[in-house]
Amino acid sequence: MDTLAPPTDTRTALVGLSRSELGEAVAAMGEKSFRAKQLWQWMYHRGAREFADMTDLSKTFRAKLEDHHIVGRPAIAREQTSTDGTRKWLMQFGDGQKAETVFIPEDDRGAVCISSQVGCTLTCRFCHTGTQRLVRNLTSAEIVGQFMTARDSYGEWPTPNDERRLLSNIVLMGMGEPLYNFDNVATAMKIVMADDGIALGKRRITLSTSGVVPEIHRCGEELGVNLAVSLHAPDDDTRSAIMPINKKYPLKDLMAACRSYPGASNARRITFEYVMLKGMNDTPAHAQALMRLVRGVPCKFNLIPFNPWPGSPYECSDAATVQSFADMLLDGGFSAPIRTPRGRDILAACGQLKTDSEKLSAKELRERAAVAEQTWAEKEAAAL
Ligand code: SAH
Ligand code: SF4
Repeated sequence: MDTLAPPTDTRTALVGLSRSELGEAVAAMGEKSFRAKQLWQWMYHRGAREFADMTDLSKTFRAKLEDHHIVGRPAIAREQTSTDGTRKWLMQFGDGQKAETVFIPEDDRGAVCISSQVGCTLTCRFCHTGTQRLVRNLTSAEIVGQFMTARDSYGEWPTPNDERRLLSNIVLMGMGEPLYNFDNVATAMKIVMADDGIALGKRRITLSTSGVVPEIHRCGEELGVNLAVSLHAPDDDTRSAIMPINKKYPLKDLMAACRSYPGASNARRITFEYVMLKGMNDTPAHAQALMRLVRGVPCKFNLIPFNPWPGSPYECSDAATVQSFADMLLDGGFSAPIRTPRGRDILAACGQLKTDSEKLSAKELRERAAVAEQTWAEKEAAAL
């Protein structure tokens, strides 16, 4: 299979180029601009992985393409399928780095969960990816390539009509913080949305952020995709203890960005993700505070039972606690489904993704824990 170019190969990938960049690449080979359109359709509508398969291109053009370019797909280093049908791929890129992609099938549809970075700069304490240092941003080719490779796995080419797609949605909820790699994520999502290719509408794409406030507006304006925000706590002290990014962008700023998210309305609500951590954020007082916090934001909640991973410092709230938390939100007029964990047996559920490429040292993890403990100590002192 055609993989992203190994470092020794100087040929460049065509997958991942914006439409105008593809036009420039075609012009640089001395070809007319309609060739770019043909290439686009072969790659994104037909899913061609080799130039040799693009049968209506002249032999000389195909030879030039072979000389200068590759189509460019991630290789699959490992594929696992859960007992519940969830499938996880460890994708490997040209420089050997790896990231995970997950498909979560429903009856006749399903979401592909895509990674935006190898590792993550952020260190949310409940997240497995957060124990891994950021290695690098993924390129637009690697982001769109994850979706294309997932579709290869189900033979979903050429692109079917909307209602017949099994891989019907994209959630940017894999490894990494998509708003810290916005340019590449945006290029990739524009490719995915283009009508004459993969043609997945913006309403079928959800970007999840830990709350990178300055980039939120741009995401709505340039992409118009659904926004999910990892909220996880109703007050700054609790949130800062489990999500250090809250110290940089506290809840007041985050809520203001949500209130003005372009396109958000009662018909198109922002999703607040809320991971249920035993004794941490799951009491009736937390639920009350949460409802006060989100006043004025067109929103719904998604309650995520905490998914444990080896060495994780938390436990999931009891089922009854999760249910009464959901009931309180429901009584308050909010939609608050409890997300059914999927693919836990293959560590494919939310927050369980991690590749073995780079780990934080035990010392760094201890330091991080100490910072969080200190925040807790401050909180307790303030409560006295
Ligand atoms: N970095 C982005 C997107 C990836 S994480 C973000 O943080 O939003 C996808 C979701 O899984 C986020 O809501 C995240 O908070 C949640 N999550 C992380 N670790 C988890 C765990 N162990 N159990 C349940 N959900 C988790
Ligand atoms: Fe990064 Fe999101 Fe995990 Fe936080 S929850 S460490 S932002 S991937």
